[in-house]
Amino acid sequence: IGALRWHFLLQSLEDLQKNLCQLGSCLLVIQGEYESVLRDHVQKWNITQVTLDAEVEPFYKEMDANIRCLGEELGFEVLSLVAHSLYDTKRILDLNGGTPPLTYKRFLHVLSLLGDPEVPVRNLTAEDFERCRPPDLGLDESYKVPLPADLKLPSESLSPWRGGETEGLRRLEQHLIDQGWVTSFTKPRTIPKSLLPSTTGLSPYFSVGCLSVRTFFYRLSNIYAQAKHHSLPPVSLQGQLLWREFFYTVASATPNFTKMAGNPICLQIRWYEDAERLHKWKTAQTGFPWIDAIMTQLRQEGWIHHLARHAVACFLTRGDLWISWEEGMKVFEELLLDADYSINAGNWMWLSASAFFHQYTRIFCPVRFGKRTDPEGQYIRKYLPVLKNFPSKYIYEPWTASEEEQKQAGCIIGQDYPFPMVNHKEASDHNLQLMKQVREEQYR
Ligand code: FAD
Repeated sequence: IGALRWHFLLQSLEDLQKNLCQLGSCLLVIQGEYESVLRDHVQKWNITQVTLDAEVEPFYKEMDANIRCLGEELGFEVLSLVAHSLYDTKRILDLNGGTPPLTYKRFLHVLSLLGDPEVPVRNLTAEDFERCRPPDLGLDESYKVPLPADLKLPSESLSPWRGGETEGLRRLEQHLIDQGWVTSFTKPRTIPKSLLPSTTGLSPYFSVGCLSVRTFFYRLSNIYAQAKHHSLPPVSLQGQLLWREFFYTVASATPNFTKMAGNPICLQIRWYEDAERLHKWKTAQTGFPWIDAIMTQLRQEGWIHHLARHAVACFLTRGDLWISWEEGMKVFEELLLDADYSINAGNWMWLSASAFFHQYTRIFCPVRFGKRTDPEGQYIRKYLPVLKNFPSKYIYEPWTASEEEQKQAGCIIGQDYPFPMVNHKEASDHNLQLMKQVREEQYR
């Protein structure tokens, strides 16, 4: 996990610690490998119960099982609670005959049999904490929330996104106040170029557990109930949460979900292995300002709009470079504040047309896509200041400006900013043929 996400996580813990303190409780952070941490503390603190957030990721499933064994050995009870998702994915799988529903439509049908998700756990109050005041454990400094310096995190890599429940709730309220915006929310109409998120921007908060998806779901239900009309899944806000749930469900029952090999739902493609081209994409050196601006925002801030994620994912995979989605997924995993095992891999498979999505003939143009909603290129000017003096007509393709115009803009292409690394038209036509071939072979 990258430095930005570490900072976000530490800020979130700090905020949790502060909020718990106000209720007369506290948060103790123990660093170490979970098995030895438990062995060391169970007897010392007389621990009788351990609770875990149930997760679908194999690493956590294994941890869950290991802690259960430890519980039997050391004599503590283990509670694994479903809190990170709206539903217990096992129930969805059971209703679908033990297999994951592979289309969103089918998924919604199964959910309709289940009804609404469980209501969120009510917030704890000071009285609750009064009843379970922490014992005096004679604690020392080593149980404090670590500081970034303790983890040797570079202090310059600070994201404008602040971690913590307090900030997450503030953002939630700020969006919900505008009920018209909530009820008419239509995902494809939100704009990727906006300098501030045009969607809720809540994903980092859901991801590390600052905000409950159930709280969000029920707040939306209440607003919908008071409105004459509201948008519907897949494009509505509640529909977005259901996409999240969809990927969790499929991931929970698909072996090797984050890989191509051994993954039964993933098209098997011979992608190119090209470390140099991958590096250019990752470090915003493709020569396509729209793509490089997005990759710069990702590296500097840790969050990019959904359609911006579409643009760079398509470019890396089936669009231009024909490099495996697994490589892109790993870069996102490192740089995104909201990096998530199931959602990240699910969307990468989708965008590379390896699973779920079949309109593979639609390839995003790295010049026209951004231009549609931001003809002046404000977004590019912000994230790639080297290009900021180009007139709008060149901002998406500065290599088409004459030498004189490049001089006037103070940026010589090939020297101050790279030439495009591929000819988009040729590369995308070629890749489309490859994709057609793969699909024909594999369907046969
Ligand atoms: P909103 O539009 O406000 O939606 C509200 C919530 O719904 C989000 O916070 C998120 O929890 C959920 N959601 C929205 N879109 C999706 C989606 N397509 N799939 C699943 N859940 C969704 N999202 C992550 O949270 N973690 C990831 O690692 C991640 N990787 C992605 C990789 C690629 C290649 C792509 C194309 C998308 C990825 N997404 C990921 C999905 C989506 O882009 C983000 O969830 C969304 O942009 C977050 O912004 P928001 O909170 O403003 O979303």
